[in-house]
Amino acid sequence: MKNYDIIIIGGGVIGCMTARALSRFDLKVLLIEQESDIGMGASSANSAIIHAGHDPMPGSLKAEMNRIANPMWDQISTELGISFRRCGAYIVAIGEDEFGCLTALKERSDSNGVTSEIISAEEMRRREPLVNPAVSGALFTPTAGMVDPFAACVASIENAIQNGVEVLTETAFTGFIMEGKTITGIHTNQGDFACRWVVNAAGTYSDEVMHAAETCQDFKITPRRGEYYLLDKAEIEMNNILFPVPSAVSKGILVLGSTHGNVLVGPNSQSTEDKENKSVTSEGLAEIWQGAQKLVPSISPRSVIAMFAGLRATGNAACLTPGVNYNNDFVIERSVEVNGLINLAGIESPGLTAAPAIAQRVIELLQDSGETLIDKQNWNPIRPARPHFNHMNREEQADLVAKDPRYGRIVCRCEMITEGEIIAEIHAPLPARTYDAIKRRTWLGTGRCLGSFDMPRVVDILAHELNLPATAISKKGAGSEFLQRQTKEVEA
Ligand SMILES: Cc1cc2nc3c(=O)[nH]c(=O)nc-3n(C[C@H](O)[C@H](O)[C@H](O)COP(=O)(O)OP(=O)(O)OC[C@H]3O[C@@H](n4cnc5c(N)ncnc54)[C@H](O)[C@@H]3O)c2cc1C
Repeated sequence: MKNYDIIIIGGGVIGCMTARALSRFDLKVLLIEQESDIGMGASSANSAIIHAGHDPMPGSLKAEMNRIANPMWDQISTELGISFRRCGAYIVAIGEDEFGCLTALKERSDSNGVTSEIISAEEMRRREPLVNPAVSGALFTPTAGMVDPFAACVASIENAIQNGVEVLTETAFTGFIMEGKTITGIHTNQGDFACRWVVNAAGTYSDEVMHAAETCQDFKITPRRGEYYLLDKAEIEMNNILFPVPSAVSKGILVLGSTHGNVLVGPNSQSTEDKENKSVTSEGLAEIWQGAQKLVPSISPRSVIAMFAGLRATGNAACLTPGVNYNNDFVIERSVEVNGLINLAGIESPGLTAAPAIAQRVIELLQDSGETLIDKQNWNPIRPARPHFNHMNREEQADLVAKDPRYGRIVCRCEMITEGEIIAEIHAPLPARTYDAIKRRTWLGTGRCLGSFDMPRVVDILAHELNLPATAISKKGAGSEFLQRQTKEVEA
């Protein structure tokens, strides 16, 4: 049985950032992910905002982690070579009643130590000409930002791999190996692994991991689904983040310009018992459309190119540590019931923002429990970004093509993604082995044609580079293969 110091269950942004944080120490670390790629859960289906921290309940772990993590993103994005824009965010009041709410929101923002300012309707219209002309004012939080959340997962796990962390995809945790009240390993669908610590970063399944250790039986995740529309960047351009005045359960339906240049609208909030139900509904989409039009009335249905949903890992208010009422807060703690388990559960929004601070807290929890963590002498925090042909000027493009002609062959015409970029992702530290893995890394297939031009070509490239038959190439892992069988012989 292979032996590790620490096994992380779950390759979302929390697991990936934790893996990176642990990779700086002399530890043997394994991350397992049940899907065919990392970042296929909430970490790639969210609003992509690095929150300023105005919203969480003062005194909560959500507020604390958000406050600590927000300033970390400048350095992290530079080290990991990912796009991050500290553009600030606006909570937009429509009508006089909503304007009154801005003062209470500013007070909460002040209690959380977050800089904010109430600006006039005129100023709001100046900063975002597309905003509803009936705007009465807005709360501006200048430290909010925008990141590519999937890139944050990929880049942090690649950096962890460069620093010695092992990753197994298509590997599902199925149970613990225990000696009395001490965890000594895990069972997975790919065999058993021994370890001294398990970090539970299993998102919506984090409650089931807790239960598998016969702990926290009252704790339950009931996902809250959030639906989105993605708009065509050729139809509408916006660089701001616009929130409505929030409700009791959610920050509301927002409109924002993403790092990829597309406008995103959503999400709503619907509880579901089904942890796999990422479908969109006509009622849900109507709700987000109405919400978006309240902020930006000129949005047109013509500009919609895709829709998707993400699941928030909302926990109940059960008491985990005696005397502590979590009240839907993050759960970041070492289990008091068994030895060797760290739970990162109920990580709903602002979990993306908070990820680097949560990863840092895992290190503190290990140290508090007596672990001596020894720094690696050769730890390298830099993960170099790979070339993005579409982001280069003509001269840079010509230089790149001269060095490697595969960058001169455009495979996705809408997003101008080249064969060279696709091949680079297939041979990256965490190889992209499916169509969706390439799509999320390069943004190929996200334009108007939704991949109908590039898909056959990408299947071909994947098959060639991975030395597999084309029938083995899938959209997102086993069961989603594109081709069923060969229909005619191909001449060599
Ligand atoms: C609609 C929506 C909007 C949001 N907007 C924002 C925002 O703008 N800003 C922000 O800061 N946060 C936002 N969030 C929250 C943020 O996306 C999450 O907090 C964050 O992505 C959680 O990361 P995670 O790693 O805990 O979970 P996930 O990304 O879900 O990862 C968990 C992983 O564990 C894996 N797993 C589960 N069970 C097993 C098993 N048995 N074996 C192996 N692997 C397993 C899953 O496959 C999954 O990949 C939003 C969330 C949603 C849903």
